Amino acid sequence: MTRPYRRRSSLGDSGSGLTLRQRRRPVVFMLILGMVYLYWAYTHRDRGPERARGKSGTERTARRRPRRWAPLPVTRTFSMMGTRVNVTVVPPRKTNLETLIDGVRSEMARIESVMNAHDPTSFVSRLNDLPASTPLRVRPEEAEILDVLDEARRVSELSGGAFDITVASVGRLWDFDPHRPRIPTEEEIASAIDGIDYRQVVVDRATSSVLLAGEGARIDLGGIAKGTAIDRAVDYLTSHGIRSALVDAGGDVYVLGKKTRGVPWKIALQDPRDTTGVLATLTPENIAVVTSGDYERAIAIDGKRYHHILDPRTGMPAEGLISVTVFAPKAQTADALATALFVLGPERGMELAERLEGVEAILITEDRRMHATSGLKETLRSASE
Ligand code: ADP
Ligand code: MG
Repeated sequence: MTRPYRRRSSLGDSGSGLTLRQRRRPVVFMLILGMVYLYWAYTHRDRGPERARGKSGTERTARRRPRRWAPLPVTRTFSMMGTRVNVTVVPPRKTNLETLIDGVRSEMARIESVMNAHDPTSFVSRLNDLPASTPLRVRPEEAEILDVLDEARRVSELSGGAFDITVASVGRLWDFDPHRPRIPTEEEIASAIDGIDYRQVVVDRATSSVLLAGEGARIDLGGIAKGTAIDRAVDYLTSHGIRSALVDAGGDVYVLGKKTRGVPWKIALQDPRDTTGVLATLTPENIAVVTSGDYERAIAIDGKRYHHILDPRTGMPAEGLISVTVFAPKAQTADALATALFVLGPERGMELAERLEGVEAILITEDRRMHATSGLKETLRSASE
């Protein structure tokens, strides 16, 4: 019996003329290529903070290597409303930072152009120039003015007239520019003071118009405009996907979210009599922190200082406090309230701040003592430890 002869052949040799090793080459080549690509994609994805930013990216990387992959906040600075504005954001991965900042800047510029009393074409100037009781129509691009005037009135009512945008009838007689200081005479103040009454500002939503009743009435939104611009900047940022930012207009700040996961933004509460001194470091979140101080714009004549926050009852700079910091959900409210509390003084100011839901305040009296609302006491105690 013979066995059929089985020819020993190299495995799989099907007659193509290629050895196994030869046929594997393209596969191995593709594999190496794939690995090179994966390596490239991996290293490029995580190469720098710019690429690691963004909510999901942050969360994913924060869990693995929080130090190396923590997204970096970036700051851009510009001038607006006579002050320096710093916008600090933690932008998502695909954000074009410069376009985003341009958008913030033009939103703030739009608000300024509506409310700037020094610009003759602004809504405020056009209204002030009209004869008494003549309505002025609000243009679509000026629409915010209606909300601003409503909020101004609300704060006027809350503060019993301590905040009053018609303080401008006397305010225009003052000049707090140190290069050309001007103090009005008693007679000048006496003849203008009757023009101060916030009820003279009449808003008609139905016709979208505003009028000033009463001869000599005029308005100045200097006590609420900056806060409004900050709110618009924050609205712009959140509508463009930003969840973490600081908008700081000359020390008036809105704190959006946390700096990074688990790490809050830090805010320094400045010493009003020593701009380099810090009274406390706070870590607020999703809140506006706005300060009104007697040191911001002031003139000195014959050894006496005069500052720009006027008491509507006297037409003279308000006395009793040197600084008021207000925490509120909106910068617009915080801005107006800071001016209001400043005028009200330590006792009545503190009383109002305690009464308002969602509002906290730090009042600094002339003897440099800090007085905080009850909701802040614990925070301040731990901040100064
Ligand atoms: P800053 O602009 O320096 O932060 P404020 O927010 O306190 O200061 O605003 C002060 C400005 O508000 C003044 O320059 C003036 O235009 C306006 N103002 C002054 N006194 C009052 C007041 N009693 N009520 C409303 N606005 C006021
Ligand atoms: Mg203010």
